Amino acid sequence: MTDAPLRLCVLGPGGRMGAQVLALAAADPGFAIAAAIDRPGADVIGTEVAPGVVAGDDLAAGLAGADVYIDFTSPAATAAAAQAAAEHGVGAVVGTTGLDDAATAALDALSARAPVLVAPNFSLGVNLLFALAETAARALGDGFDLEVVEMHHKRKRDAPSGTAIALAQALARGRGVDYDQAHRYAREGDIGARPAGEVGVATVRGGDIIGEHTAYLIGELERIELTHRAASRSIFAAGALRAARWLRGRTPGHYAMRDLLGL
Ligand code: NAD
Repeated sequence: MTDAPLRLCVLGPGGRMGAQVLALAAADPGFAIAAAIDRPGADVIGTEVAPGVVAGDDLAAGLAGADVYIDFTSPAATAAAAQAAAEHGVGAVVGTTGLDDAATAALDALSARAPVLVAPNFSLGVNLLFALAETAARALGDGFDLEVVEMHHKRKRDAPSGTAIALAQALARGRGVDYDQAHRYAREGDIGARPAGEVGVATVRGGDIIGEHTAYLIGELERIELTHRAASRSIFAAGALRAARWLRGRTPGHYAMRDLLGL
């Protein structure tokens, strides 16, 4: 017996990522686009964003007809969507980064009612990079200094990127240090000698860079650099759709890309 198509509500159809998700979902018979919802007043409202799908702004109605929603928007929109989804028990695939406490609390509440997968990066390669970085930090030990550099396009609003933070957390786990104590996002002026357990994260912004992340493990006479470069946003959209399909039938709770990928 074939499963019925998974009914999706795609948030942010007017955005860079929302458009990619819609394009891939529309071409895949495993998905039915139940709704595409942007913020009231957005230019995209009332336009056809996929064959037969007109973008709207009624979040509750859009979620009511969906099995899973996909969210690449903003932290405030993430909180509102999670609250509305809890009323209908709709599963969530969330790629929005820079989430604040309100968004995190709303997703926690939703996870009691429906399966929720939040990922700062949906690419297979980046999720493998997290695992490689953790392994490398564990293997190399205290003699190596840990740094992350991330580069993105000039319109990206949050810094450091959610992916850079997750990568730095992976390095900290490998080293066995508490990330909250160890991370350092900025250096300026007379900063003194580098503390041994520090995990530094530096941000570069410019042009149209889709996303580049490097984990540096820097020793006295040698250095390891683990880099991922994204060449198209479609890799994130494809990963989010894979996550949506994987969530089908799961029990309520929080899931991560490493669960899906078996990493
Ligand atoms: P964007 O600015 O191009 O698009 C955001 C869209 O969300 C816009 O259409 C905007 O109108 C819409 N929006 C805002 N408020 C809304 C609301 N209340 N309801 C519905 N829609 C609303 O941004 P983008 O480049 O597509 O990125 C979006 C987010 O996804 C960012 O946080 C970015 O960091 C993140 N991102 C994550 C991944 C990943 O793999 N997890 C990959 C790329 C980008």
